Amino acid sequence: MKPFARKLLAWYAKNKRALPWRKTRDPYRIWLSEILLQQTRVEAVIPYYEKFLARFPDVFALANAPLDDVLKTWEGAGYYARARNLHRAAKIIAEKYRGKFPREIRELRALPGVGRYTAGALASIAFNADEPLVDGNVARVLCRYFGIREDAKATATQEQLWKHAADLVPRGHAREFNQALMELGATICVPKNPRCLLCPVQKNCVARELGLQNVLPAKRARKALPHKIIAAGVIYKHGRSKGDKVLIQQRLSEGLLGGLWEFPGGKVEADESLEHCVAREVREELGIEIRVGEKIIAVEHAYSHFSITLHAFRCEFVAGRVKLSSAQKFKWVRPRELERYAFPAANKKIIAALRNE
Ligand code: SF4
Repeated sequence: MKPFARKLLAWYAKNKRALPWRKTRDPYRIWLSEILLQQTRVEAVIPYYEKFLARFPDVFALANAPLDDVLKTWEGAGYYARARNLHRAAKIIAEKYRGKFPREIRELRALPGVGRYTAGALASIAFNADEPLVDGNVARVLCRYFGIREDAKATATQEQLWKHAADLVPRGHAREFNQALMELGATICVPKNPRCLLCPVQKNCVARELGLQNVLPAKRARKALPHKIIAAGVIYKHGRSKGDKVLIQQRLSEGLLGGLWEFPGGKVEADESLEHCVAREVREELGIEIRVGEKIIAVEHAYSHFSITLHAFRCEFVAGRVKLSSAQKFKWVRPRELERYAFPAANKKIIAALRNE
C-alpha cells in the first residue's frame, strides 16, 4: 500500500466521526445518506436520514409509497428532485433487480439521480469495489496535495482529479479509503485555514510546502445570483357549515420543486404592483377572480441558481371555476389540513405566519 493510503487509513481509524450511515453496509441506507449529503451538511442530514428510514425502512417500502408521501417525508430537506429520483430509482431496484442493488458502476449510473460520484460512493462504500470518487471535499484535498492550480470545476481538471483518486485507491480498501479522503476534507483540509499540522499527509503536500493552502483549489469568479420578486395569494372561500377553506395547487411533477404544493402566484412584472400580480397570476393560471387583501408576510429564500422575495397576500375568492393551466392538481383545504401536504420552504413560512395570526 502506498504511504498516502497507509497514513490516511491509520488517521481515519482513530479520528472518524460516528455517523449513523457508517454503522451499516446496507446499500439502501448508504444510498439514502449519499443522496441527502449531496447538497446538505452532515449535521443537517442526520434527522432527515432517520425520519426517512423510519417511514421507508427498505427499498420496497419506498418503491411502493405514493410520491406525495415521499415528498412529505422529504419536506424541509430541499432540492426535491433528489426525492423524486430516489423514488423512481427505488421502483427500478424493486422491479428490475428484485430489491437487490446492482453493483456495477454502469448499472448504478443508469439509476435516476445517480451520477459519477454517487455511483463511486455506492460501489466502494456499500460493496468495497475498487472504485474512486471525487466530491467537493476530495477535490479540495487533491488540488492542494498535488498543487493543481487550474479551476477545480473545469472538465479537464475534474478528469485529472478522478485519475489521481483512482491511482490512490488501495486495492481491497476502497470502502475505508474513500470515506477517509472525504473525512479529511470535511474535518482537516477544510475550505478556510486547513489544519495542516494535524494532517496525516502533510509531508508531501504541495500546497503546504508552498503556502498555497488558502489559494487552492482555484475558483471561477462567481456571478451574482439573479433575484426574482414573487407574489402569491392565500385564497379563502367562506363555507357556510364547514368553515373557511384555502386553495392550494400542486406543481407539475418535473422541474423545480416538482410535485410540491403551493399557494398560487408568480413573478411580478415590470411596473406591476404586487397586488395586481397576484390577481393576474390567479386569473391566468386558475381562471378565477379574487379580491386581494392585506399582506401576510414577505419571505426571502435562496435556491441554487437564484433567490426570491415571496410576498404573500390574504385573498378572497370572488367568482369562476378553477381551470388549471400550469399545475397538475388543486384542492380547497381547511387551514389546519395544510400540514398534511408537502410545501417548499418559502410556502411553509407563509403557513407558519397564518398560524400566528
Ligand atoms: S497538508 Fe494541509 S493543505 Fe495539504 S492536504 Fe493536509 S490539510 Fe490539506
